[in-house]
Amino acid sequence: MNKILLKDYDPIIQQAITNELARQEQGLEMIPSENFVSLAVLEALGSVLTNKYSEGYIGKRYYGGCEFIDTIEGVAIDRAKQIFSAEHVNVQPLSGAPMNIAVYFGLMEPGDTILGMDLSHGGHLTHGHPVTYMAKVFNFIRYKTNAEGKIDLDNLRQMALEHKPKMILVGYSAYSREIEYEKIKAIADEVGAITMADVAHIGGLIAGKQMINPVPIFDVVTTTTHKTLRGPRGGMIMCKEKFAKQIDKAVFPGLQGGPHENNIAAKAVSFKEALEPEFQEYSRQIKANAKVLEKKFSDWGYKLCFGGTDNHLLLVNLFSSKGITGKQAQIALDIAGITLNKNMIPDDPRSPMDPSGIRFGTPALTTRGMKEAEMEIIANWMNEGIMNWQDETKLKSIKADVIELTKKFPLYPELQ
Ligand SMILES: *Cc1c(COP(=O)(O)O)cnc(C)c1O
Repeated sequence: MNKILLKDYDPIIQQAITNELARQEQGLEMIPSENFVSLAVLEALGSVLTNKYSEGYIGKRYYGGCEFIDTIEGVAIDRAKQIFSAEHVNVQPLSGAPMNIAVYFGLMEPGDTILGMDLSHGGHLTHGHPVTYMAKVFNFIRYKTNAEGKIDLDNLRQMALEHKPKMILVGYSAYSREIEYEKIKAIADEVGAITMADVAHIGGLIAGKQMINPVPIFDVVTTTTHKTLRGPRGGMIMCKEKFAKQIDKAVFPGLQGGPHENNIAAKAVSFKEALEPEFQEYSRQIKANAKVLEKKFSDWGYKLCFGGTDNHLLLVNLFSSKGITGKQAQIALDIAGITLNKNMIPDDPRSPMDPSGIRFGTPALTTRGMKEAEMEIIANWMNEGIMNWQDETKLKSIKADVIELTKKFPLYPELQ
């Protein structure tokens, strides 16, 4: 066995990791699906658990030597149940896309109809976008938001009555409003549909009690663990007891092989963190920070999709407000040390590669300890950078200021 440390054995990889650490330290991370995990989570991820095969579930493994693995997976499940008041939890999904695929295959037959939100209105690729394999297997029908930026419940009900879906799916990647789970559940009950919420983006805000928890209301709820929940890259499925067997079988052996137990241990650690009172304060601050950005951008005349935000993110219709495209803004702000992403706006007339909008959010900056005062400063830089998107000198001078600010909010001083 190779006993040499990474830095001595593979300097190319070591150097790239060091560079990435510096990039994370020195930039303002505003991609709303990103976050920074704690050292304890990193430690669990980098542990010897990666050596172990443990196909199956607690007490029913296909391999020997799983006694400690069972402890770990059990703790992860118990903590998740406690956070979300879930009846049943599966912590094995490797990431967000496979967790959703497992639910579809677990609860439906090929050809069945799913009513999900249109991608340009904030839905996710795994909710039936034509480029996915899922769209070839199931019949996805799409609902949209209305002119006020709310989910059009009358339209959703009409579509449900017309198409008789087997499942109604909510939960989004670029939608910034609270979701009316109770009303959607009532529509689903009227047509006998299963209810699924994919709260990948807002799992942490729900855990921190800052958004409605759909777990007691809906049949199935999925979440990633690496976004606002601030754990390792992964997925998790929560469901009512009556769907437990179908869901577990769909994850393994239906879709996956051996679970990544280092990842499950890291999930358990992040769930312990999410149960601390500080996590509620963290979630509250994420929303408060997003509200500062909302105010600043709307005061400057930017068009906010959905009329503003109830969560951690904003989708801005940049092209119709300022005549600048999402791609132009993303590239300019990259030079200025501010990372966000170009994004489609509802019924975007432009293309996905150069759409009308930008999407940005506050979870990662809030993890660094930044509050309202920093959001004001950062919003000013963003506006300056966007309005001067062609001025390289200006953008570089913003970057110098960005680096100064990030020095006051060190991320991983222990790793430097
Ligand atoms: C991020 C996301 C996913 C997919 O997660 P991955 O880990 O990237 O596969 C699924 N659904 C929604 C709503 C998301 O935002």
